[in-house]
Amino acid sequence: MKCPVCGETLRPGKKDPNYLLCYTCKKKYKVPEKKTVKKEEQKYSNIPPKTVRKKREKEMKKAYDEMLSVEEEYQEDKVSVVPIVVLTIAILAVAGIIVYMLLK
Ligand SMILES: [Zn+2]
Repeated sequence: MKCPVCGETLRPGKKDPNYLLCYTCKKKYKVPEKKTVKKEEQKYSNIPPKTVRKKREKEMKKAYDEMLSVEEEYQEDKVSVVPIVVLTIAILAVAGIIVYMLLK
């Protein structure tokens, strides 16, 4: 920014950076609102564009679905393992009874 009186380039104050100083006129000017607007724009530019956000949402949803399907698989495994264990125990029990009866 330049001094409106002499056209000299204003420099930010050392004591108060919210003010710009003109060393020629020995005047200080408040930093215009423009700067804060620029800051806000930078903040907005940090937010990814719609397409990127959508892609991320999609990826997150995919990961979530995978997590759920893994959980389902785990539960299915748990259910299918139990009858096998029961069956094995039953077979062993029957085998034990047969062996016991044969030895008797
Ligand atoms: Zn000036």
